[in-house]
Amino acid sequence: MKTNYDIAVFQGDGIGPEIMGPTTALLSELAQAGGYDLRFTDAPAGAAHYRDTGESLPQASMDAARAADAILLSAMGLPDVRYADGTEISPQIDLRKALTLFAGVRPVTIRPGQPTPLATDKPVDFVLIRESTEGLFYTQGRGEVEADEARETLRITRAISEPLFKFAFDLAKARKASGRGPGKVTCVDKANVFRAFAFFREMFDAEAAKHPEISADHAYVDATALWMVERPWSFDVMVTENMFGDILSDLGAGLMGGLGLAPSADIGVDHAVFQPCHGSAPDIAGQGVANPMAMILSGAMMLDWLGGRHDVPAMQADAARLRDAVDQVIAEARVLTRDLGGTATTAEVITAVKEALK
Ligand code: ATP
Repeated sequence: MKTNYDIAVFQGDGIGPEIMGPTTALLSELAQAGGYDLRFTDAPAGAAHYRDTGESLPQASMDAARAADAILLSAMGLPDVRYADGTEISPQIDLRKALTLFAGVRPVTIRPGQPTPLATDKPVDFVLIRESTEGLFYTQGRGEVEADEARETLRITRAISEPLFKFAFDLAKARKASGRGPGKVTCVDKANVFRAFAFFREMFDAEAAKHPEISADHAYVDATALWMVERPWSFDVMVTENMFGDILSDLGAGLMGGLGLAPSADIGVDHAVFQPCHGSAPDIAGQGVANPMAMILSGAMMLDWLGGRHDVPAMQADAARLRDAVDQVIAEARVLTRDLGGTATTAEVITAVKEALK
């Protein structure tokens, strides 16, 4: 059994290093006790790196990402550092493209004690999978604009959709096995209007037929937006096109009371990047008050993925322990950062999570 794992670490910009340092330290402690070895390698990249060197994603960092067993990323980009054409520096998008990370995994979890605009105390725990390489983003930057007309192309391919749906059903199976979900996948589309989505749905149904133990259903994207607000607890795993997923994942973050508790993963066949949904938060950088929980939960997702991929139950157990520890700190509501209504520092939250792990 493989026990050594190379992790490429993109500390990034703004609060990135402040939340990454303590998270990798926490993961190292867990690994030591759990009998597996995580070797973290720094991969310089991002807006500050671009400002200092003229490169936003150096080849050596790209090579380290490609060679790693998994990639951990905090946040990259700074509002005042741009490429010459005015566009933002976001090497995370370059990584997504270069490594064909088609499955954007966005868990939507509302824990007891977590602020949410929903008037419910029912726990919510579902996963939105946003296809991240094609769909309506296919012609991103290449749309045709004429004097009186503009066109963008939505592209759905078998090469991406088939592994995407397989990933969704495998995830539902893993969640069911760990007691986190009933084993259900919902295909979110607009198959009643667009032929491309009928094609999308056809491939979903073909994959569903291979997983009789997992239930499969369909929902139109507009109804899904309504149901995410009315009865979010009824979802388990949902899978959708890139633009629909872009919009619904922000709705999910809204239900979760903001970005401070929202982890994410971008996963392909051979590579995966784990990172918080939030950005580099330059307005609070350097003050030691950033909420490290989304970063820690992204680390837990990494352990879950690595543990499942390499069959290391200790890693998956540690992922669950980390999630439970964060849940406990939120439920106790004593040590919370400003974004969650508290006054705690990053370091105090880390200490509280460590205490909860004991
Ligand atoms: P991007 O476009 O890079 O995703 P953004 O413009 O959405 O970034 P963020 O950097 O995510 O913006 O910040 C949005 C707001 O949320 C800011 O006020 C920031 O301070 C706050 N914020 C983001 N992440 C955290 C965090 N981990 N802890 C505390 N506050 C945060």
